[in-house]
Amino acid sequence: MQKLLSQTSIKNKIVLLRLDLNVPVFENKILSDFRITKSLKTIQDLLDNNNRIIILSHFGRPTEGHYDSKYSLERVSDRLQELLSQKVMLVKNWTDGVKFDDATNIIMCENVRFEVGEKENSLSLSKKIASLGDVLVFDAFGVSHRKEASSYGVSDYLDTYAGHLLESEIINAKKLLSVQTRPLTTIISGAKISTKLTLIKKLILKSDHIILGGGILNTFLSAMGNNIGNSLVESSFINEAKEILNGEHSKKIIMPIDVVSTDSLSLDNPKNKKISMLQSNDKILDIGEKTTDRYIDIIRSSKTVFWNGPLGYIEKKPYDNGTIKISEAIASSETYSIVGGGDTIPVIEKLGLQNDFSYLSTGGGSLLKFIEGEDMPILTKLGMI
Ligand code: ADP
Ligand code: MG
Repeated sequence: MQKLLSQTSIKNKIVLLRLDLNVPVFENKILSDFRITKSLKTIQDLLDNNNRIIILSHFGRPTEGHYDSKYSLERVSDRLQELLSQKVMLVKNWTDGVKFDDATNIIMCENVRFEVGEKENSLSLSKKIASLGDVLVFDAFGVSHRKEASSYGVSDYLDTYAGHLLESEIINAKKLLSVQTRPLTTIISGAKISTKLTLIKKLILKSDHIILGGGILNTFLSAMGNNIGNSLVESSFINEAKEILNGEHSKKIIMPIDVVSTDSLSLDNPKNKKISMLQSNDKILDIGEKTTDRYIDIIRSSKTVFWNGPLGYIEKKPYDNGTIKISEAIASSETYSIVGGGDTIPVIEKLGLQNDFSYLSTGGGSLLKFIEGEDMPILTKLGMI
């Protein structure tokens, strides 16, 4: 049976709330508060029911056992305080206990990844965390594939419920898996080739079309015998790409025609080039104009689109062009669209298109793992899968 906050009444308790507030930050500023705003529904619900909340979250990848201000949740607690118009008390050495004062209903514990034992799901840390509250609400879809102390271990010692965000994440991810509305187009792109190649193998079975970009596309182009020069590639996956290309579903992959590349070290001087024209000192940084048009045609003819990963080096103009055009095409089409990825969502937000997509997921790796059908311990425990 599913254990959902939406079907329980938690009142007058100290609630431990595990969130994923791992927001993208650049030059000390939060680039997107998507994960914070998505968490508000659960927070508000708990406050409305007279609970006090202890928030747990990770942020970045600090070294366990060392406080490092670079990985502090300070910016995040400030933003949450603004959004809620009420005090959020950030607490550093929280494993030995936290205290609410009269003016405070929300405590945020510093980055759980500062704590020794978080990663290895240590028993003693899990117990310590559990001792802070009366009940646990888990709302951190982004870490639901992990077996760590604050995202799994603690649930052995406290009654645990899925929060509102997690509930909607699972409903929407399941829609994608059971999709009846075809054609289904899957766009897989970005930098993380190793993790995403496995996903392609699964999704090529379910999808009608596969669109590739980023380092993954480069790996496939190389596997097809093209010269991809200095481009981002993971050579150890070329054989896997070859297997997919020789497989029975390879026709589903929409082949690119051209790319945008540069031969300058400073990444200036972008050139739109046919793939066969690439030279050894070229670096592919975006999909080309003709490729973009071809991809957009496929998107427009689809009924469902699943997208993960920017199609180019979005950090530098004009290499964000392809990603922007693809975002706009999905937003303006009638397709059911679901998007995940920590680097993908901010692009959509920057364009102000977040309401033109059917569902934007806070999950990155976790969404991919869910779709792949991998074991997700906390979701199993909560009866969500
Ligand atoms: P997400 O977080 O959305 O799942 P990834 O982390 O896998 O996406 O990839 C995002 C990164 O991929 C971005 O930083 C982007 O610059 C990079 N990227 C995409 N295409 C290229 C490319 N051709 N060359 C270098 N980097 C790329
Ligand atoms: Mg990323």
